[in-house]
Amino acid sequence: MVISQRFGPGHRILVTGGAGFVPSHVVDALIARGCTVVAVDNFVTGSKENLAQLADEPRFTLVEADVSEGLPGHHPALAERFDAIMHLASPASPTDFATLPVEILRVGSLGTLHLLDRAVSDGARFLLASTSEAYGDPQVHPQPESYWGNVNPIGVRSVYDEAKRFAEAATMAYHRLHGLDVGIVRIFNTYGPRMRPDDGRAIPAFITQALRGEPLTVHGTGSQTRSICYVDDLVRGILLLLDSAETGPVNCGTEHEVSMRELAERIVSMTGSSSTVTYVTRPSDDPELRRPDLTLARERLGFEPQVSPQEGLRRTIEYFSQRLA
Ligand code: NAD
Repeated sequence: MVISQRFGPGHRILVTGGAGFVPSHVVDALIARGCTVVAVDNFVTGSKENLAQLADEPRFTLVEADVSEGLPGHHPALAERFDAIMHLASPASPTDFATLPVEILRVGSLGTLHLLDRAVSDGARFLLASTSEAYGDPQVHPQPESYWGNVNPIGVRSVYDEAKRFAEAATMAYHRLHGLDVGIVRIFNTYGPRMRPDDGRAIPAFITQALRGEPLTVHGTGSQTRSICYVDDLVRGILLLLDSAETGPVNCGTEHEVSMRELAERIVSMTGSSSTVTYVTRPSDDPELRRPDLTLARERLGFEPQVSPQEGLRRTIEYFSQRLA
């Protein structure tokens, strides 16, 4: 399966949440292809620094706005038609679930509906960043897209899980009702440069703790697993889905499944740190196992992750070393 590039020079793409970790890498990749990109962000978890490399790029515009309120009508960059709308905006870390619960619900529900309406009026392809959290604490392992999940609808993670599940439902409703061209990607744990050191996700937390010589705080016994994907691989997967006519949902990530204990020990060894590993209370509803079934991504998109955990972690450690220095 080879997907040919559908979006390139002359195409206008709207990326919501463009100043965030994953979205800023998507913006870079679209600009490198020759697209014109408008990023909309309210900087609730993102940062202008993530887009500083594009300050002099004439094909790039950054607009400050909260997409849960709809797109601001007055901005000239938002007046023209878009060929594709990529709805990537949402706080996404466990810390955010506690501090920004209503913002997460709003951007997944109201934000998604506003952007779907705009995609219908523009005749644009609509791509939704969904999540492996749609599977909750899965009872099927690895997780295929056909699995409906095991989500606690009122638990501490539900604001995120259910907002994304609502966003998927809304996307499919617009697809069925309006024939809208849509693609849903379920993203598994992704890491890399431009993550926030203090966002509560395991890899930036472990790396910054190791670099500072502080104990690495592993939740519970650390036997819970995640399958870790370097951001460049994820971005390739997202753009393959964008270029395709696939509706999805399609999983994107890797099969590099590691326990949190192994991951912490590996980071201590790779950083040459003198840090120890300590075990702290595990948050409720924390999923036990996570690994994508990538059959659909391989068959429909020709997706294959390329960056080894060793290389991805090395690049990420280098980024945080420079940042902390
Ligand atoms: P991030 O927090 O770095 O990026 C999200 C961006 O969205 C930020 O720049 C934030 O300011 C912006 N944003 C949030 N609410 C907004 C609003 N109402 N209006 C405008 N901008 C808003 O997070 P990330 O990890 O890069 O995640 C990006 C997307 O990918 C999210 O939709 C997330 O749910 C999804 N995702 C990420 C992962 C992962 O492992 N990183 C896994 C699954 C899904």
